[in-house]
Amino acid sequence: MKRILSFCLAVLMCGCLFGCAPKQQKFQYQFFDTFDTIIRVVGFAKTQEEFDGYAQYAHDRFRRLNNLFDKFEDHGLTNGIAAVNAMAGVEPIKVDPQVMELILFSMEWQQKTDGAVDITMGPLISVWQDYIARYSPENENAKLPSGQELEDAAQLCGTHLLEIDQQAGTVWLKEKGASLDVGAVAKGYATELVAQELQQMGWESFSISSGGNVRTCGQPKNGNDYWNIGIQNPASGAVLAEQSELLDVVSVNDSSVVTSGDYQRYYMVGEKRVHHIIDPVTLMPADHYCSVTVVTPHSGQADLFSTALFVMDLESGKQLAEQYDLGVLWVMSDGSIQCSNAILPMLRGDSLEQK
Ligand code: AMP
Ligand code: MG
Repeated sequence: MKRILSFCLAVLMCGCLFGCAPKQQKFQYQFFDTFDTIIRVVGFAKTQEEFDGYAQYAHDRFRRLNNLFDKFEDHGLTNGIAAVNAMAGVEPIKVDPQVMELILFSMEWQQKTDGAVDITMGPLISVWQDYIARYSPENENAKLPSGQELEDAAQLCGTHLLEIDQQAGTVWLKEKGASLDVGAVAKGYATELVAQELQQMGWESFSISSGGNVRTCGQPKNGNDYWNIGIQNPASGAVLAEQSELLDVVSVNDSSVVTSGDYQRYYMVGEKRVHHIIDPVTLMPADHYCSVTVVTPHSGQADLFSTALFVMDLESGKQLAEQYDLGVLWVMSDGSIQCSNAILPMLRGDSLEQK
């Protein structure tokens, strides 16, 4: 009888041990209806239901932020970026507080990057986006926009056209035809907001991958010390992340890894790749690099920096990386690799061996 009792006790204790601290499993959820890209949430949770709650929350929030930050479609909202653009030259509009925060965040960091990223460049970026949409990379008759077309668009760009009244919560583009384009920063900024909200809800271990933007939170609960994030080899082109060849791997926790590349959206004019990241000085696609990857905690900053560094020359870029302690890996136009000091301890190093 005694033996039976101690056996039952042991079973009960085991049950309690497992019951009290159930093992966490890895789950995954993805969606393709926001920010023009696949968004994948990977995380550790005790049950499928727990994970589903977080993943559904993330999906809802991405939908809402996509609608607010979209520059073309207003999605029935009168307080998003599209509404600001529609009212250019007409009147200030009261924007959603998160739109105001995104604009202020972008303005602050575009100043610190010497205007390499400039969200008031909507008209110029639209010219290039129209040409990219018009021509496939195989089209042998593809053309560049004329200098006049670019100059005309540039006349409608510039921070002097943007009037922000923080107290009233209003934003106004003072010239008809001016427009905001937050494509360089919105996806990373939204990813950061969603990640922070999920952490506040108590989720301890997850990553959100949105296109070339990855934000990791906490340590992965599978015994690994870090999340391992692949850096795509730009030579593999515009393919899904899992089909791309990896150039290297960075190991991080509570950090973001964001890449800007010339292979994501482009067409060809002769040997020249005409892509979507535009230098505000030359009005042309920036041509120093094939890709720039940035590692830094805040995903919005990482997104803005990766676009800015793509525009800046290597010397200015290295200074910026030093100043803000950014992990950066540049893939130069000739395929050679440059790194900032801060990325070296996180890098597996495959790309350095090829040097
Ligand atoms: P990303 O892929 O994050 O580097 O962002 C590229 C997107 O940002 C483009 O598709 C444009 O919408 C926008 N963009 C391109 N060049 C610039 C620039 N110099 N400043 C601000 N936005 C830009
Ligand atoms: Mg960016």
